[in-house]
Amino acid sequence: MEQEPVPHMAEACPRCGTEYLLGSHFCHTCGGRRPEALSSTAQADAAAIARLWVLGVHRVREFVLGLHWGQIKAPSWVRYLHFHEIKSRTGLSTGSLIAFVIGLACVAGALLVGLLTAKTFVDWQAIQFYRAEWLLAATASFVAGILLKKPSGDDGD
Ligand SMILES: [Zn+2]
Repeated sequence: MEQEPVPHMAEACPRCGTEYLLGSHFCHTCGGRRPEALSSTAQADAAAIARLWVLGVHRVREFVLGLHWGQIKAPSWVRYLHFHEIKSRTGLSTGSLIAFVIGLACVAGALLVGLLTAKTFVDWQAIQFYRAEWLLAATASFVAGILLKKPSGDDGD
């Protein structure tokens, strides 16, 4: 990398491109202030950071590409999250399990709505309505889950 002698001030106006007159602090064409040129250390720092960035991106890419995705062993507890495991453990059908999960999400929504702070009575009223609707949806979902539940012992799939 060639390093020419670093001037203290910029050579040309960044706004209009005019070269500054010797010793001037302002552009004689547009009147813009003459900025200080980047110091050599700042330029070196920027270059070093850019190199590090490129290197880091390269490393991450190599790491991702180098992984043998099929060989990654999931922790043993992950299998408890598997849908069919839950199904066989609880004896629920797919439909009722989905309804159950939706119901849980609705309960979570109702709890999250409770975190909202009401500043006025109208706000508070609206939040109560939201909460009631979430809980209603949760109830409907649980009921649907119960209705979708197959009679126990009928484990066809
Ligand atoms: Zn200028």
